[in-house]
Amino acid sequence: EEASNSDAQFLEDETTKIFAQKVADHYSARSNQTLEEREASPIIHLKKLNNWIKSVLIQLYAHQGDAVLDLACGKGGDLIKWDKAKIGYYVGIDIAEGSIKDCRTRYNGDADHHQRRKKFSFPARLICGDCYEVRLDKVLVDDAPFDICSCQFALHYSWSTEARARQALANVSALLRPGGIFIGTMPDANVIIKKLREAEGLAFGNSVYWVCFDEVFSDKKFKSSSPFGIKYTFHLEDAVDCPEWIVPFHVFKSLAEEYDFELIFAKNSHEFVHEYLKKPEFVELMQRLGALGDGNQDKSTLSADEWEAAYLYMSFVLRKRDQPERT
Ligand code: SAM
Repeated sequence: EEASNSDAQFLEDETTKIFAQKVADHYSARSNQTLEEREASPIIHLKKLNNWIKSVLIQLYAHQGDAVLDLACGKGGDLIKWDKAKIGYYVGIDIAEGSIKDCRTRYNGDADHHQRRKKFSFPARLICGDCYEVRLDKVLVDDAPFDICSCQFALHYSWSTEARARQALANVSALLRPGGIFIGTMPDANVIIKKLREAEGLAFGNSVYWVCFDEVFSDKKFKSSSPFGIKYTFHLEDAVDCPEWIVPFHVFKSLAEEYDFELIFAKNSHEFVHEYLKKPEFVELMQRLGALGDGNQDKSTLSADEWEAAYLYMSFVLRKRDQPERT
């Protein structure tokens, strides 16, 4: 009885690891695009929009001199955004070795590009590792505490099992100072489930993305007793082709509360855009990034399909409590 139980546990661990490796391999294999390739991408405006969202989050919550923890930092696409916020220290971790390599190159100044920009003004530590498996407080003893943690377009990779989802939150909670901020962007489970239920089969999408659920979810019902491991395949043209997991937001919120976080806000990307485009400084930033053109449906602006893909995401801001809640 006991032996078979631990076998099942072992199998689950193995499957989880295989999926984590699959995600890592996928991102590692994606090499840096040239500027020309990037501009020719069918989702260039979506990428720019997502960069705008991340920039707004960073400008809103980062302060001069902050120590920053960037979970699943990828190729370091946010380094410049953090530099603009005049942070004091940066630690970036990613499971994909190829991405961390690219991140190092970017941080050290790309030799091929003749150092087009000045060096970053903050010291950085870049590490390859699984943020949802490893106890990061043990790895980063000398680096903690952090003022702000960011996990952009990656936290959903921790929802393959409850243990991983908990490790992700435990890591951030252990490494942030009291009052520290946790910002992130991840798929909006409400939107994805709604679209799945509206779809005829188990898949939906448009010219830039598709989402496909496994046959086990053919009833399109999800038990609230097992909110982890709800897997789907996500394909984003020219960007992603990966197993991903649903993060039911109310479960995320209450799990985060267990780890001493309070929710400051959570907003779908559409709502986020509408809200922050009311502020002139962010309008100007959007124009500089070139995500939204003059509103005409031409190539200078986001396509309707890209705008629909943007709707699949939401951003959140959590704050680590000053005092752990005692019960
Ligand atoms: N945060 C970066 C950004 O916004 O540009 C990268 C986002 S990319 C869509 C997702 C990243 O999550 C990939 O770089 C991938 O390697 C990373 N990732 C996935 N699972 C991870 C894990 N278990 N630990 C660390 N990084 C992980």
